This record gives sequence, C-alpha cells and structure tokens, in this order.
Amino acid sequence: MAWTNGEKSKKEGLVLKAVPVKGNDAMITALGKDGFFSFYARGAKKMGSKSFACCSELSYSSFVFSSSSTGKLTLSEGDGIEYLFSSDALEQSFCCMGLQEIALKLFHEPEEDTPIETLEYLLQALRAIKKGISPLNATIVALAGFLRLAGIGLEVGECVNCGKKKDIVTISYLDGGFLCRDCAEEIGSVKTPVEQLKILRFAFACSPSDLPRCQSWRSSDARPLLTGLLDHLENQTGIACKSLRMMLQAQ
Ligand SMILES: [Zn+2]
Repeated sequence: MAWTNGEKSKKEGLVLKAVPVKGNDAMITALGKDGFFSFYARGAKKMGSKSFACCSELSYSSFVFSSSSTGKLTLSEGDGIEYLFSSDALEQSFCCMGLQEIALKLFHEPEEDTPIETLEYLLQALRAIKKGISPLNATIVALAGFLRLAGIGLEVGECVNCGKKKDIVTISYLDGGFLCRDCAEEIGSVKTPVEQLKILRFAFACSPSDLPRCQSWRSSDARPLLTGLLDHLENQTGIACKSLRMMLQAQ
C-alpha cells in the first residue's frame, strides 16, 4: 500500500459541502460508505490547484489524509473519480442541488449515524440525471428513499388509517400514507390519479439500483408528487428545500 505510513489514511466519498476558509482553503464535508467525514483542504478553492477538482461539490473522489495531533484530517492528496453535478439544463442543476441540500440537512446535521444506503441513493440519482433520465423522476425516487431511511417514509402498502389493502384511492401526506375509499370519503379528501399512486408505491419500495426504471413517468404526474414529498419532509422535520421549491414554483 502506498500509505503504509501510520499517520496517513485513505477514504473515498462524495463531496457535499466545500466551505471557503482563509482565502483559497476549504473545509470539506463528504459522504463515504461509512458515513460523513470532514477535512481541511489547502488550495481547494483555487482554480487549477491539485485539490480543486477532487474537492468540488458533487465530486466523488479518493482522498489521502494526514492527521494532526488533534486528530483532525488534512488532505495530502486527492483524485476526482466521478463528477456528478449536471448543468446542461436548469432542472438538472436544481435537482442535483436539492438532493445535496436534503442529504446534508437530513443526515449530516442531526449528527446521528448515517444509514448506509444514503450514499447509494445519491450516487444512483445523480448518475441517472447525468445520463439524461428525468431529473424530477430521479429526485422523487431518491427523496422517497431518504424519507424511508430517516424513518419517515409514507405507508404505501395499505390504508394508513384502517389497514385495508384494497380500494386505495388517495395519498394523504398529512396522514402519512395511502387512504382507502371509505377513509378518504370520511375525511373528504380528493382522489389521487392511479398512475401517481403506482409511482409512490414503486418509489417507496424500490432499491437504489432500480432507480433507472423511473424513466417513463410523466412530468404532469411527477410534479405534484415531488411537491407532496417536500411538504411531507417539511411537516415531519422542518426541513425546507429551497432549490427544489424554487424549481417547482418557476414552472
Ligand atoms: Zn381505510
């Protein structure tokens, strides 16, 4: 191994935050297979420096660190493996930024253990967006995954009120899941188009590797669903995703 020196360590991760400090340096927060890690990177904000590309937000990179006596990590060398920010279209950029923002607010700021699948959902969604899959659809699947991992997923297997599996007619974000015809009529809620119920069922049950299968959903179905999922996120956690709200309001 190239880093047999006891003071060096190596990690791979997706950069989610690069905060400038002291001119061209930056504090980097990245998500790796074992959760979040942070480190100091000299020259990371200077175009053309050797740490610039690997420390850019939404770069998946490998890093070699040296630790200081206080145990803080400092980057000694890094390599960008995959750059996952898509900016060909406005919707792509907003969705990339939105997922980045939600992953940080939902899993980093609480300082609890980050569920292992978080990174996989992010990588698969960002790769799908890069490949030209609808950014809205990819974002719905990743967001549903995030909500489930955070323990606030919607009940999409049965009526959240009475447990009935048949005759599901609507999604109630306020109640936290599907409602059957009887329960929906009781509270006077409006029916949700069948196609949208199917999408939600898929999004909350699939694994990150199923993500490319979201390709065929229509944007007229995706928009209200993304709005609903953001409402649910906000109601449950107080987290408001500015970039995605801005995108949905603009169109
Ligand atoms: Zn019911």
